[in-house]
Amino acid sequence: MYHRVSHAQRDALTVTCEQLETQLRWLLAEGFTFITAGQLRSAQRGGPALSPYSVLVTFDDAYVDTLSLAAPILRQQLVPGLVFVPSAFINGTSQWDTVPQALMSAAQLQTLASNGWEIGYHSHAHTNYAQLTTEQRATDLKANLTALQTLHPIGAFAYPYGKRPQSTAEKNELYRAFASLGIDVAFRIGNRINPLVSPQPYDINRLGVRGDRDLNFFKRQLWWGRWW
Ligand SMILES: [Zn+2]
Repeated sequence: MYHRVSHAQRDALTVTCEQLETQLRWLLAEGFTFITAGQLRSAQRGGPALSPYSVLVTFDDAYVDTLSLAAPILRQQLVPGLVFVPSAFINGTSQWDTVPQALMSAAQLQTLASNGWEIGYHSHAHTNYAQLTTEQRATDLKANLTALQTLHPIGAFAYPYGKRPQSTAEKNELYRAFASLGIDVAFRIGNRINPLVSPQPYDINRLGVRGDRDLNFFKRQLWWGRWW
């Protein structure tokens, strides 16, 4: 799980171009296989099995630097990318960040999609789904689907802030809404490695890649998940 990419800035949510490039090269050299969310969805439904060392590279929030900096690096190494888009902020800025950053326009998202990137859902208003009612979640989700329709998204959702409702009843309600809308995988953070076929496809873990850590930290995350 990546967020921002920068030429020089490094922090918890921002990696440099050099870090991203080095991390992808290391994954390739170690024999990891890059997959798409389409392949993951298919494997979840009993389709072709995934390689034991499969990696799905995702970018949250649709920052402009996903297109300008990350996409060329992924393309160079033939790595498929997936971007999760909070649709209310297309062509705007990330209001949830302390210092709001530029987000892609519809045309820029279209360019990314034309370059083979998968487009996924990240809610409409980038609100914490744990703090919404079932009705509010359903309304937000529908707005997200409508707004992204022309980009032909893949049925994959990333919870804003990695947060999903706590109670089983609310979770099931949300999972039913996902299923009825053609969304069959959803991602949290969790910092754990997933089994090849997840017993809970709406609760898939991701490893947060941090720009303020070194390559060894990244390697340990990839092999062991939450080890610290
Ligand atoms: Zn986000």
